[in-house]
Amino acid sequence: MDWLALTLAGQSPVSTQGRTAQLSWHWRGPGLLELIPHESCDEAWVISAGVHGDETAPIELLAELTADWLAGRRPLACRLLLILGNPAAMAAGRRYLDLDLNRLFDGPRASDPPGAEPLRARQLEAAVADFWQAAEMPIRRHYDLHTAIRASAHLRFALLPAQENGYDAAMLRWLPSAGIEALVRHSAPGRTFSHFTSARFGAASCTLELGKARPFGQNDLRQFAQVKAALAAGVAADADALAALPQTEPKGYRVSQELRKHSEAFVLHLPAAAANFTAYPQGTLLAEDGPHRYRVQAAREYLLFPNARVAPGLRAGLMLTEIPLSQLADQA
Ligand SMILES: [Zn+2]
Repeated sequence: MDWLALTLAGQSPVSTQGRTAQLSWHWRGPGLLELIPHESCDEAWVISAGVHGDETAPIELLAELTADWLAGRRPLACRLLLILGNPAAMAAGRRYLDLDLNRLFDGPRASDPPGAEPLRARQLEAAVADFWQAAEMPIRRHYDLHTAIRASAHLRFALLPAQENGYDAAMLRWLPSAGIEALVRHSAPGRTFSHFTSARFGAASCTLELGKARPFGQNDLRQFAQVKAALAAGVAADADALAALPQTEPKGYRVSQELRKHSEAFVLHLPAAAANFTAYPQGTLLAEDGPHRYRVQAAREYLLFPNARVAPGLRAGLMLTEIPLSQLADQA
């Protein structure tokens, strides 16, 4: 079964389940594949890619790993739900068709406009709920794989959903082995997939930004080799293989303010090509929106995901301050 090809073609396999020497697989719907190892295990992982349809490298990476697990080429020691988030947008080579899927989780809400993506968000919410309820395993993880549109001072970084407690120790150990150079802690709830799985299911979740997006087949997958190796070792519960990977020493950040686009009057006073994690000094005028003025508040703040072309009501960028990594650890 070629999971990616079937998903892009909008087709289902002839048989929706099967068995190999080490696992059984279950087609749970378009872009949803569950792998259950025959050996008993105590972790249930969700790995997703393609929530943004044009972020192709993580989609290809996940498809390659899936082919390896199905062929018995790599060990599997956890229950695994694999998700290709937005197959229709993937097939069209677009970030999304109607609405940004990664702003629609934890819904529906009366303010959500109509479109293909709100329906898909409900399907994905139901799929992870079914998966974790059926799996009944104490350890839940969710890694949502993305690539960024713009240049970045940190090539690979993780976004950690806002939560009251610190973050899962095993996740914080895993991220440096995946080549992650920066960890960004959200300060407020968002409607991303990783915030949904963290808030609703207590999963150790994060969004991983893994480099720059290119069209299908044009990605240099060597750039993604380390995160692929770390995912494979993680689901194999192979601590030695994780420890053998080169480890980064990530910088820590927290979101200090959101640049929210209230109206079409929103103007971003930053160069269009400004790289992620560019630093700006206190007082810098970042954006204006009618009576709203956004300035750098702290001594120095770092820019993330500036985009003035979002719909009114959505965030047009984030500003960050640096924090010690110890502030991310679980204090409990
Ligand atoms: Zn993305």
